[in-house]
Amino acid sequence: MAKKSEKSIPEKVDAHTHVSNDKFVLYPPFPDAIKIEITSRCNYSCSFCAHSKGLREIGDMDRNFLYRILWGLNLLELKRLVYFY
Ligand code: SF4
Repeated sequence: MAKKSEKSIPEKVDAHTHVSNDKFVLYPPFPDAIKIEITSRCNYSCSFCAHSKGLREIGDMDRNFLYRILWGLNLLELKRLVYFY
């Protein structure tokens, strides 16, 4: 028999979605990690995805736009950059 959870459903949801009051500031800190989706090309067809339904335009991020983003990020103290695809 499965062990009954001690938390209610709203408590479980809050544990994942709660944003502490110290984050509600006028100038929040810059994120230390950023993901950039450089292309919308994909060979998969996950049922939940707009891509597999043909709802997204297929293409690559403009190279100069990507370079401008990377140049801007280089000026900041970014700890992690992930290319999404
Ligand atoms: S979620 Fe969409 S973009 Fe991601 S792998 Fe599946 S079909 Fe491709």
